[in-house]
Amino acid sequence: MFDTTIAGSLPKPAWLAETRKLWPQWRSEGADLQQAKLDATLLWIKAQEDAGLDVIGDGEMSRQHFVHGFLEQVDGIDFAHKVEMGIRNDRYKAMVPQVVAPLSLKGRVHATEARFLRAHTQRRIKFTLPGPMTIVDTVADRHYGDRQALAFAFAELLNQEALALQADGIDIVQFDEPAFNVYMADAAAWGVKALERAARGLTCTTAVHICYGYGIQANDDWKKTLGGEWRQYEQVFPALAASSIQQVSLECFHSHVPPDLMALLKGKDVMVGVIDVASEQIESAEEVADTIGRALQFVPRERLFPCTNCGLAPMSREVALAKLQALAQGAALARQRYGAP
Ligand code: ZN
Repeated sequence: MFDTTIAGSLPKPAWLAETRKLWPQWRSEGADLQQAKLDATLLWIKAQEDAGLDVIGDGEMSRQHFVHGFLEQVDGIDFAHKVEMGIRNDRYKAMVPQVVAPLSLKGRVHATEARFLRAHTQRRIKFTLPGPMTIVDTVADRHYGDRQALAFAFAELLNQEALALQADGIDIVQFDEPAFNVYMADAAAWGVKALERAARGLTCTTAVHICYGYGIQANDDWKKTLGGEWRQYEQVFPALAASSIQQVSLECFHSHVPPDLMALLKGKDVMVGVIDVASEQIESAEEVADTIGRALQFVPRERLFPCTNCGLAPMSREVALAKLQALAQGAALARQRYGAP
């Protein structure tokens, strides 16, 4: 009960890449870089196990960014000529590659780190991929001319990689769709369908992570414009509840999301964000257990999985590590408080 997991990313060690950045530069190249990525992955597998987490991830050590890591293995994308684009409805600017031709996979995208993860932990493992709509929002389209068509083109490629990840021994494939909280009408109209296309044929557990973004200034500023109640989930959750996706990861602690929106996910596993990624303050076990207690009003305990609100990539290693421990300790306390007698 209350099995714990993280949303996905963890801070890269200073010897692997620049720290505290969303698009960090690598510290080395070639074979040295490949080795450094796996060394960092091993370090975080051990740290997650030591903290006491139940579902382990690779911390996304092998990708520079959660979207562009996938795009680097896609043909039809021009990485040599990146352009500046406003993303997440112009919330912030990013240098993004351009879609210039029909899309296809060059080959496997994450085989190395997925098999490495499987080889180095006995616990259940989760692997994250960007969702189709979020990819569309993080790339400049010069070929398809239609966001929905582009999303379904990406969904087919994601599906190929997801099926291969399952064959590598991944237990949970999670798609990250922060764009669902920005383009709610599109998400309900076709974003969830594109997601289902990406997950087609998977027999492992499928999940989607929907958040209000990393704890960076642009996101903090945006959240201040969203008012006292964040009701974005309300427009997307009914479509997700009707979908084949099994788990939904959402923000809870320190957010302005009304907890009763979780009731819209009836029949789904809910990964409840009990760790704030926008604050360096370490949650106490009591705070984590209290958040779980609030969520239990709307989510049955066998469907509740404590999680982080979002990835921890831009944080310091020290803070991220302490937050992993808080997550596990809080879940343990919640098992005592709310477990069956
Ligand atoms: Zn997130």
